[in-house]
Amino acid sequence: MQNMKISQKVKNLKPSPIRKVFDKVGQLKKRGVKISDFSIGRPFFDTPAIIKEETKKALEKGMVHYAGSSGTIELRKAIARRIFIDKGIEYDFDEIIVTIGGTEGMFITIQTLLSPGDEVIVPDPMYVYYKGWISYAGAKCIPLPLKEEDFSLDIEELKKRINSSTKMILLNSPHNPTGSVFSRQDLEKIVKLSKEYDLFILSDEIYQRITYNNCKAFSIASFPEMKERTIISDSFSKTYAMDGWRIGYLAAPREIISQIAKLHQHTISCPNTFIQSGATTALNQDQQYVDDMVKEFTRRRELIIDCLDKMKIPFVEPKGAFYVFPSIREFGLSSEEFADYLLEEARVAVVPGSAFGNSGEGYIRLSFTSPYEEIEQGLKRMEIAIGRLRKDRINL
Ligand code: PLP
Repeated sequence: MQNMKISQKVKNLKPSPIRKVFDKVGQLKKRGVKISDFSIGRPFFDTPAIIKEETKKALEKGMVHYAGSSGTIELRKAIARRIFIDKGIEYDFDEIIVTIGGTEGMFITIQTLLSPGDEVIVPDPMYVYYKGWISYAGAKCIPLPLKEEDFSLDIEELKKRINSSTKMILLNSPHNPTGSVFSRQDLEKIVKLSKEYDLFILSDEIYQRITYNNCKAFSIASFPEMKERTIISDSFSKTYAMDGWRIGYLAAPREIISQIAKLHQHTISCPNTFIQSGATTALNQDQQYVDDMVKEFTRRRELIIDCLDKMKIPFVEPKGAFYVFPSIREFGLSSEEFADYLLEEARVAVVPGSAFGNSGEGYIRLSFTSPYEEIEQGLKRMEIAIGRLRKDRINL
């Protein structure tokens, strides 16, 4: 009876399918089962020591009380400086707000900018929460399937989806779950369309500094006159292995950010005070630790793509982020059935592609952030399990 009184908007939200895998793996690990974990999207590195040290000092100094709602001026200035270095865009500190990770930042942006009936075009497959955030605002998520051959944007298909209700395009490059990095040429075409149809761009740049083989991920806000219609969401979770710290930021022109800041205040009051001290250190220090981490991901990426090649499983080489998204269509199983098979038969945890939207069915997402040896062992077991599955199918 009580359940009937719960908001329909909340009832419509679906729990993250990744959390489901996470819980399953957690239970198996608790029972002592050794799992090779390719399911979780976080760096298996510790947060750099200097960041932890500065945070401890902040605690000792008594930074344990409420602070400004949009974040400390020191951190917002450090963010503006970092954005200028990395993306070449100028922001004043008051065009930035510090958020509880990219999650809060994107949620409040979507709730601030969208009204019921608005449409948002989102490349599909897509990060697990996007659709829920959009529907919570009463708006409609319009999936834009990525091209199967290379997971690039299909601009002709994008044009077909724009109508008078379209309010926003949500981009995520480097892309979770495919590892695709959208090309400069395609972004230029989106720039033109967004100006022609007066659209917002929400640009999720959480993996921007994680790219391979000299591939560069461009921020769409860096194109001429694009800052005024773009909201950048970024986070410390991936770049600095700080996912558990829950800190990120939004950058957008004053007229937009000041509106988002109101909802931010109503939602969280202010971000965690002492954590901001660690985050400021993360940005102001020599960035060698980021380069070192990406170098190690490069090694793990090579390992995984060599093995997938050997197993003759089709995939597109990831250019960024830390995921590869191979096709499992030949096995005639749904992506969820295939993921369950790998967990049971190979003790390898992956995320079914269907978790990322309709275009993800027929694929699985492998994250290559686990320790090298764990990936190596998991791939060996996966090769045997896949060999068995292929044999079974021949004998059917
Ligand atoms: N956006 C993308 C594409 C992600 O993959 C993630 C996390 O995996 C997030 C946003 C949210 O990250 P956080 O809230 O930890 O900053």
